[in-house]
Amino acid sequence: MKVPLLDLAAQNKPLRADILAALERVMDSQGFILGPEVEKFEAAAAKACGAKHALGVSSGTDALVLALMALGVGAGDEVVTTPYTFFATAGAVARVGAKPVFVDIDPATFNIDATRAAAAITAKTKAIIPVHLYGQSADMAALAALSHEWNIPIIEDAAQAIGTDLGGPLAGRQAGSVGAVGCFSFFPSKNLGAFGDAGLVTTGDDALAEKLKIFRVHGSHPKYYHKWVGGNFRIDALQAAILAVKLPHLPGWTKARQDNAARYRKLFAAAGVEKAGVVLPPEVRPHIYNQFVIRAPRRDALMAFLKERNIGTEIYYPVPMHLQECFVYLGHKAGDFPESERAARETLALPIYPGLTPEQQAHVVESVRDYYKA
Ligand SMILES: *Cc1c(COP(=O)(O)O)cnc(C)c1O
Repeated sequence: MKVPLLDLAAQNKPLRADILAALERVMDSQGFILGPEVEKFEAAAAKACGAKHALGVSSGTDALVLALMALGVGAGDEVVTTPYTFFATAGAVARVGAKPVFVDIDPATFNIDATRAAAAITAKTKAIIPVHLYGQSADMAALAALSHEWNIPIIEDAAQAIGTDLGGPLAGRQAGSVGAVGCFSFFPSKNLGAFGDAGLVTTGDDALAEKLKIFRVHGSHPKYYHKWVGGNFRIDALQAAILAVKLPHLPGWTKARQDNAARYRKLFAAAGVEKAGVVLPPEVRPHIYNQFVIRAPRRDALMAFLKERNIGTEIYYPVPMHLQECFVYLGHKAGDFPESERAARETLALPIYPGLTPEQQAHVVESVRDYYKA
């Protein structure tokens, strides 16, 4: 039995006719950049994300760069963020000329530790970027209090967390709707995936929405007049048209991921692998399982063993940001953020996509059990 890490065929197949119709509509309209298809998707996305404004952009990475630019973050500024994330989070900070200031993660959620974030704030801190890693939110109640106390905006990296309820005191509100700006990615492996690169920024602030809109088109306003230097951060009409077809199905796909996670928990409990030291992802807050990430003793050998059994897995992420070669200038060394380093050593993402069958999940769990029995 083959179990790929991700297979989108099952989710795309029933939408084939609708997606092809949307592509034809864009082709016939010849409106390829922004325009009515994009505005239609933005209105639906704003509603789905619980945000007042939503702007389609070229990628999740560009969403972060755009947010930083619109908030005026640049050279000499510091941005407090997590070292345990996809590169784009820290990369965006460096690209606008600011300094990423890393603080370690909460080992239960893999997200930035709010207490450590508080301790890292200085007079130079211009933004805080929590990442809602794997689909579970950071402690936004604590971070929002911090943001309020110091008057420092939060940019939420919600690339993996579209539709995630923040839980606790913020129950009913979604990832990306509490910070000054929410950043989303529609990279094909995200819960809502485009047919290529695309992303979204959300905000509840009218003036900031206007600024984001202007920075999205080179800082041009009116056309050919530039008060600021922005970039080309536009979303393609084709991607927006595809995403508009897919968006209504997102809640169902999310539910399927959550059901799969619940099934894994049952199967793993029955298999008794927790005695071997396997740790399943704790649900500290609501989770939409963009990834189902376990901690596993002798992780690399387990990964190789599962590969032999035709099971796709991935390490998100093997090298924390503070140990990346491009950030050597920040002066960090191994041991600076022990929880991030431990997560990088121990974690393994298992297949969780909607469409994964119970038989496939049983095969994954049996294989993990066999590995630890051997
Ligand atoms: C995917 C991702 C991004 C970047 O999104 P792209 O659309 O690939 O540019 C940023 N941050 C996190 C946490 C991500 O997972």
